[in-house]
Amino acid sequence: MSSPIVSKDPHEPALKRAVFFDRDGVLNVDDGYTHRIEDCILIDGAANAVEMVNSHGYLAFVVTNQGGIALGLYTEDDLHAFNQTLFQKIHQASGGVITDAAFCPHHPKSENPLMQHCDCRKPSPKMILDLAQKHNIDLAQSIMIGDRDTDVEAGQSAGCRSVLFNGGRLDDALKPLMSEQEG
Ligand SMILES: [Zn+2]
Repeated sequence: MSSPIVSKDPHEPALKRAVFFDRDGVLNVDDGYTHRIEDCILIDGAANAVEMVNSHGYLAFVVTNQGGIALGLYTEDDLHAFNQTLFQKIHQASGGVITDAAFCPHHPKSENPLMQHCDCRKPSPKMILDLAQKHNIDLAQSIMIGDRDTDVEAGQSAGCRSVLFNGGRLDDALKPLMSEQEG
């Protein structure tokens, strides 16, 4: 490798790129407020998709609306247990790694006024922006994929390339978007 022409601050870490995955309907089958560990079933190609993005130099994150918490259908502990199961299944199947996950526990129809309103529920880009700041992500080099228009809207607002997943194999949906790491 040749030396860069413009010297960079050696203490400033290089920006990384990422794929932000919606969860239900993208990584796991969506039964509507899916939260039981026994209902954690991988979408076809999901484990491969995570490994594929990793191997192309993208960190993998999950950004998920979990309004079932505000509606009292399940708890945050249930959510974390489900995520742990999901991420283990993905890793065991392909070696793919989910680096971090963000969730919105709020819902406009919650009976708890404190859980009704927020600035994180998609289509807000806040969960993506927060993960990007925490992990030093270049959003312009990153991708959001989800199965709803609100996912696409959130990704676009965050400045990511944003893709609607229409079903089928998740790895097939992402394969055309993979490019080699620059620099
Ligand atoms: Zn929220």
